[in-house]
Amino acid sequence: MQTRLAFEYMLTPDGIVRDQALVLDADGRITHMEPAKGQCDGFFAIPGMPNAHSHAFQRALAGFGEAADTTAAGQDSFWSWREAMYRFANRISPEEMFIVAREAFWDMLRGGYTSVAEFHYLHHLPDGAPGPIMARTVIAAAREAGIRLRLLPVYYQTGGFKQPPRDEQRRFVHASIDDFCGLLREIHGVDLGLAPHSLRGVPPESLAELVEKAGKVIGGAFPIHMHVSEQQREVDECRAVYGVTPVQLLARSVKLDSRWHLVHATHATAEECANIRASGAGVVLCPITEAYLGDGLFAADEFVAAGGSIAIGSDSNCRIDAVEELRVLEYGQRLRSQKRARFATADGLGIPLWQAACSGGAKALGQAVGALAPGHWADIVVLDRDAASLRGHDADTFMDALVIGGSRADIADVYVGGQRRVQDGRTRDAEESARQFAHVVMRLSAT
Ligand SMILES: [Zn+2]
Repeated sequence: MQTRLAFEYMLTPDGIVRDQALVLDADGRITHMEPAKGQCDGFFAIPGMPNAHSHAFQRALAGFGEAADTTAAGQDSFWSWREAMYRFANRISPEEMFIVAREAFWDMLRGGYTSVAEFHYLHHLPDGAPGPIMARTVIAAAREAGIRLRLLPVYYQTGGFKQPPRDEQRRFVHASIDDFCGLLREIHGVDLGLAPHSLRGVPPESLAELVEKAGKVIGGAFPIHMHVSEQQREVDECRAVYGVTPVQLLARSVKLDSRWHLVHATHATAEECANIRASGAGVVLCPITEAYLGDGLFAADEFVAAGGSIAIGSDSNCRIDAVEELRVLEYGQRLRSQKRARFATADGLGIPLWQAACSGGAKALGQAVGALAPGHWADIVVLDRDAASLRGHDADTFMDALVIGGSRADIADVYVGGQRRVQDGRTRDAEESARQFAHVVMRLSAT
């Protein structure tokens, strides 16, 4: 690990600075900043983006399930995609999970993400046998790829509101909260959090007990993530069974606070958004996946303008690119409001948007990430001097140019805790990993 990294330009919490070096301690944390004194390790360094929501195995599913259902043309939805996802999920072995997750994590690093909250629900083996093997596989894949991990083991109990679990969900479901806590006890050596899957997957009356019992195993402060209000059908079913929306049901079942991160919250009303903000909870948005699945649009611009905390996630991993994720976020709000520059301030669009997602992501992961500043991990994305999107720009508009016209192709190097994991846009063993990944995808997709 290098203990001093100097860049021509650097995005800090105080704005863009020139010719400065980050000084790191032996663990890879930033201790302070000082003049570069002639050293230069790259052109333009920005904080690595925390990826606040991922299902790594779904990387293998991208591009499948896109043919129109001729019996219901134009009616394809999240729910038919979910059937395709279950087919892949039920076939994948631990060895295949390792290959797919490692490729997904390397793809995240190449795409500008330096840490990931892995929302892990593929717990049991293909034959349904329980145990920690799949979770340990994800941890091993993250370690090999070199990405910072917050593992969020998912508690899944029901197959819908007051519905028994379906056979296709057998790898996800635990018999009881105590059974799930047994799994938590067998996972070691990683930052852990908790993920009640959704109110479809966890009855509201179980939530408080789950948080309390899981908390005793995990210990200390930990983030809690949950899918909430992603789909209109979910909202309708929740109303039919409980007479309230998922956000309302959650808010009356637990005390929401800054530990809670609501994933999607797509159909949250203005009043619900105000209550989420007041509670201190964050929202995790996955704009590419939400578009891919036809979920709808969360009123993110209004939420942020009112002081709400947002993070971004690559979720289905159908396309992994932190720059593009932010662009789709911004453009979704433009289309929703028929106005421009929805997240812009006097500093432009790119800086506040990147920093808001970094700051919200750091909260969602519960890690000292998302800022090039003392006390934070040296998780760094270095943009290429020859990046097409930056041509003709200077520090005043670099980040706007990146978010509007750039992509992962503009990334040269990526560091995690001061260790270089991407060099000139490439991770190590890229060809062999890609070959193994392609082989697994072919097996999983074979009919
Ligand atoms: Zn998800």
